[in-house]
Amino acid sequence: MAEKVIIIGSGPAGWSAAIYASRASLEPLLFEGTIQPEMIPLGQLAYTTEVENYPGFPAGDIRSLVESAVDKNRHYNLPPAPVGEERDGRPHYAVQGVELMELMKQQAMNFGTRVVGEDIVDVDLDSRPFKLTASSGDGHEAHTVIIATGARANYLGLPSEDAYKNRGVSACAVCDGALPRFRNKPLVVVGGGDSAVEEATYLTKFASTVYMVHRRDELRASKIMQQRALSNEKIEMVWSHQIDEVLGDDQAGLTSVRVRSRKDDSTKELEAGGMFLAIGHTPNTEFLKGKLNINDMGYLQWTQPFRTNTNVDGVFAAGDVADDYYRQAITSAGTGCMAALDAERWLSDQGIE
Ligand code: NAP
Repeated sequence: MAEKVIIIGSGPAGWSAAIYASRASLEPLLFEGTIQPEMIPLGQLAYTTEVENYPGFPAGDIRSLVESAVDKNRHYNLPPAPVGEERDGRPHYAVQGVELMELMKQQAMNFGTRVVGEDIVDVDLDSRPFKLTASSGDGHEAHTVIIATGARANYLGLPSEDAYKNRGVSACAVCDGALPRFRNKPLVVVGGGDSAVEEATYLTKFASTVYMVHRRDELRASKIMQQRALSNEKIEMVWSHQIDEVLGDDQAGLTSVRVRSRKDDSTKELEAGGMFLAIGHTPNTEFLKGKLNINDMGYLQWTQPFRTNTNVDGVFAAGDVADDYYRQAITSAGTGCMAALDAERWLSDQGIE
């Protein structure tokens, strides 16, 4: 029997779609994905520390809420509460990315969402019901599909960067920053957006200095984040420079980076124990090429304003996979909700109960 709704992706868009679809008795089947290069179940938020701007989660005793809500058998997946952040002897912090996602997952499962720990690797959207192939090789059929596969971190594309991946080069400070190889050493963060500031700030916990290498002389990050970077004594801005080459040796891994001025082409070497990329993301749409309309940057295209429809009737897109502009957890959750409502209405119009 074909599913009424299959949801692909397990970030805020996927779980919000699942919460709405399951409450509408559509019994959604959600593919949460597997660990892939720069991708992880629960999406990009699983790479993040505290999320201060998700409405409804002011700093507080979040740990109590999370532990009381999330099934005990998934507590192993929760990061420890941030050390030292306490009020009246209890933890006091803004919800962490993994906690927020585990709460959303729990909420979706409470209403009957079924979760599969696989990727969808191929789709046939020409026949109805649609046919989807999972990474195990299993086939699934669905009347509607909600694509919420998000986006993954970009790299510069230098051969030397590739050579030192996992030996000093990373695109995730939160995942790797605490490793011994990065402790008490100067570190480099590349980029000038909110992510770069977030990564740089996080790394100041471990690094002696954090060089933020940005290709312009002005940050793209929001004002509050800019202030955070510029007022942090451990962060040193390297304006209008790009990474020329990553340097190191077989034993130590990355030991420095050569940067080039974009103003006068001069170069200098920055001694460093690691380089963290924060230069944006690429949407996860490879498996949809030729099946759905995708723009030049790889994002799925919505066909009508304020609707989540794609160019194939019955296929909806939600979250960062279709959003190259806002890219916030809350906007992803919002479009996830919209996609579930759009799918529900589409099924009802088709008389599929
Ligand atoms: P972003 O805003 O697109 O910033 C990417 C940065 O990388 C830009 O400064 C860009 O430089 C630079 N860059 C891009 N390609 C590059 C290249 N090839 N070489 C060198 N530098 C390069 O991406 P993001 O920081 O990941 O943020 C994505 C979205 O998530 C944004 O909407 C952001 O507000 C949001 N976000 C919010 C928070 C928060 O509020 N706490 C945290 C993280 C992310 P240019 O500036 O010159 O283009």
